[in-house]
Amino acid sequence: MKNEMTLAFDSISENEGFARVAVAAFVTQLNPTLEEVSDIRTAVSEAVTNAIIHGYPEGVHTVVVRALLNEETVELWVTDEGVGMEDIKQAMEPLYTSRPELERSGMGFMFMEAFMDEVEVRSSPGAGTTVYMKKRICRSQGQQEG
Ligand code: ATP
Ligand code: MG
Repeated sequence: MKNEMTLAFDSISENEGFARVAVAAFVTQLNPTLEEVSDIRTAVSEAVTNAIIHGYPEGVHTVVVRALLNEETVELWVTDEGVGMEDIKQAMEPLYTSRPELERSGMGFMFMEAFMDEVEVRSSPGAGTTVYMKKRICRSQGQQEG
């Protein structure tokens, strides 16, 4: 069974928690383990935080999170129409941050890559960024959580 949802919300830090809880709740339909849910929450949180902090450094704009469940996979798209990135490869390097003054540590993409099976970034300067992530949910064959 396929199931899709889209959330659009303001780029304020209060919505980081909202996005991760909403996606986690949606994904429970696939009967994931607690660890899988935790991985997805972390990945969503990192991508949404990046959209809010880096994508839209000024003003309040819209972040869109789309989730698609399909049998035993979850696919996620986190999109901003903000400043975009000049060099995606550099941005994704472990410990690279463009905002050390904000006490960022450059770990966001590391977490996304560690916790999801696939991470792809599309971005262009001035147009914005979409982070695509995919994860296989292993126990989704109708098993029940005890
Ligand atoms: P941390 O996530 O550890 O707080 P960070 O956000 O700087 O630090 P990453 O999440 O790995 O680290 O992101 C690396 C860099 O990629 C950012 O510093 C920023 O320059 C760039 N970046 C990430 N997401 C976006 C985005 N949505 N729009 C523009 N730039 C981005
Ligand atoms: Mg980050």
